[in-house]
Amino acid sequence: MQWFRELTGVKAVLQRCKEFPMTTKKISPARTIAQVLLGLSITLSSTAQTSPPAPAPAKPANDRDKDNKATLRAFAAIHPIDVHVHVFKTDPAFQKLLERLHVKLLNILVMDDTLSYRKQLQPQIDDAQALARSSRGHIALCTTFDPYKFESASFTTDAIQQIDRDFARGAVAVKIWKNIGMEIKNSSGQYIMADDPKFDPIYKDIASHGKTLMTHQAEPDVAWGPPDPSDPSWSYYQENPQWYVANQPGFPSKQKILEARDHVLAGNPELRMVGVHLGSMERDLDNIASHLDKYPNLAIDTAARMEYLMLMPPEKVRTFLIKYQDRVLYGTDLDLPPDAKFPDALKDWQSTYARDWKFLATAETLTVEGKQVHGLNLPQPVLHKIFRSNAIRWIPGM
Ligand SMILES: [Zn+2]
Repeated sequence: MQWFRELTGVKAVLQRCKEFPMTTKKISPARTIAQVLLGLSITLSSTAQTSPPAPAPAKPANDRDKDNKATLRAFAAIHPIDVHVHVFKTDPAFQKLLERLHVKLLNILVMDDTLSYRKQLQPQIDDAQALARSSRGHIALCTTFDPYKFESASFTTDAIQQIDRDFARGAVAVKIWKNIGMEIKNSSGQYIMADDPKFDPIYKDIASHGKTLMTHQAEPDVAWGPPDPSDPSWSYYQENPQWYVANQPGFPSKQKILEARDHVLAGNPELRMVGVHLGSMERDLDNIASHLDKYPNLAIDTAARMEYLMLMPPEKVRTFLIKYQDRVLYGTDLDLPPDAKFPDALKDWQSTYARDWKFLATAETLTVEGKQVHGLNLPQPVLHKIFRSNAIRWIPGM
């Protein structure tokens, strides 16, 4: 995102964000900064608009703070659930924020062999369980298994044994990540796919425990396409070129990876699946809709893809969210890595929650990537489902 680099006065923010490696490859430092700036640069118009309003002059900082405080109070009043975060540490200020916002988090584990603190599974599980216990009911755990052990003879039984242990200790869901489909290869050199028979007993086990599978399969379209600085994910691939696969001959197509995910849905009708990041169909609401129609065991989360919704025609997004109001879960992909600095890190959280609430719940006008975006002003019952009750229904134990 070139635009923010051109702004002056953000050096300190840039510096802070560059100090920590991101916990998830989904949020680059650039993206996090963009979120901060979006949060700071949101401009408001107080009444519902029938036509695009003239750009309002930026409000003084203390007015914006007041606006954000009021917005966060409305957000908190719904007792929101954020089903997609990556939290590696806590702090009294963070705990206080969760309590003030009445927010509950689903903390998602991922095995990532490129990040020291995500390489080992058991330490992550132990830490995440301790974090959940200390959170006074504000953090639940989505565990995972180690897909890098795919070729081990006991892979499937080991994975089942471990997730069953995690369920017994309170885990409410299991995550599979994009390294399945895009990174890990089998002994014959093929990328392993989500519908590999070795995974099937694991899916059956999750379903038999009444738990939920969270799937991050593939990546945004732009990872397979030409460079596109206007795409909200583009800056991520500049920071994480290993996931930009457009120039890699023989790399699996996005369609192939998502078809494997769809085979899991079709083959496991008893398994509830949340396709995170808008089910990786971020540019195409019609495609999401046809998947939701076809697979009653599928829901989606909004994590790290809210900007795609913000940049689509608002009437289309509003109609979609009302029609599929039982199938969309609010998630952010916010993170708190081991070296996050408090209280600065909490500003990202608050500005993201304020921005998302304004977009979905109000008729205010936001400025997103230089564009005027109209809030969708969704009906209260729909907001209650997206921000709370869908999470409880799709991920029992939340
Ligand atoms: Zn994530």
